[in-house]
Amino acid sequence: MPRPEIEASRIAKLAAINIAVAFAVVAIKYAAYYVSGSVALFSDAVESIVNVMTAVAAFAAVRISAKPADDDHPFGHHKAEFLAAMFEGAMIAVAAVLILIKAHDAFVSGVTLEQSTLGIGLNIVATIVNGTWAWLLIQRGRLWRSPALVADGQHLFTDVITSVGVVIGLILAVITGWHVLDPLIAALVALNILWMGYRIATQSMSRLLDQAASPEIAAQICEIIAGNGHGALQAHDIRTRQAGRALFIEFHLVVPGTMSVEEAHEICDRLEHSIENAIKGSQVVIHVEPEHKAKPDDSGAVPI
Ligand code: ZN
Ligand code: ZN
Repeated sequence: MPRPEIEASRIAKLAAINIAVAFAVVAIKYAAYYVSGSVALFSDAVESIVNVMTAVAAFAAVRISAKPADDDHPFGHHKAEFLAAMFEGAMIAVAAVLILIKAHDAFVSGVTLEQSTLGIGLNIVATIVNGTWAWLLIQRGRLWRSPALVADGQHLFTDVITSVGVVIGLILAVITGWHVLDPLIAALVALNILWMGYRIATQSMSRLLDQAASPEIAAQICEIIAGNGHGALQAHDIRTRQAGRALFIEFHLVVPGTMSVEEAHEICDRLEHSIENAIKGSQVVIHVEPEHKAKPDDSGAVPI
């Protein structure tokens, strides 16, 4: 097993700080809504509350997915992170509906904005905190290949973009005196995050259903097999599936039928080590076959 332990503990630490940051942002954004009575600022605060809940889910998922394989789950617990990402998608949908209800009410009953400058100022402070944090989460999540952290960071980043839109819209509402802009902005925020939630959920679903490695990784695997498989004749039926930070790889290796088990095993060990060293988090299983099992080159087989 390659060394994911150090990174797992770093990810868990980052997920814990994430919760604290999310709480702080919620407090500031809610204060912004409280002093101004703006539905648009409310929509922004609600989105941040969702962030707190999803940060807790991500924290739990990261801890679960870092657990080593056991008798119940011999391939590890990596997929817990996809479940957290799907939960996040669902929470976003709930938040969007809440905002739409409030925007509708405000639209029907009319809006008066109070202390809008203070509200907007507070929201800008929260947005700067959020933006910095989102950038850090995405960067670390990609580095450590943690889908939950990347999903969290991407979600936070839409939060930042919508906050900017909300602030610009509110400034317009104050300048023009068209306070009806406030619930309209809130409704736009709701639709936008609904779209984001849909994307996060469908992306995780695809990966939960054993999505293959990217074409770049697939090409890298073929290259390593061709370069390190001397003694063997061909590899075919290469299949990959991602599970969080783990990548499971399996293929058939054609060797001369007269080759000893000893020799064939040596080639397998060499290939397994080369691939597992080159591709972080990968685990390789090889099925050995005699030459009459070789497949034509156009079947995607890799000649060695
Ligand atoms: Zn075969
Ligand atoms: Zn062995």
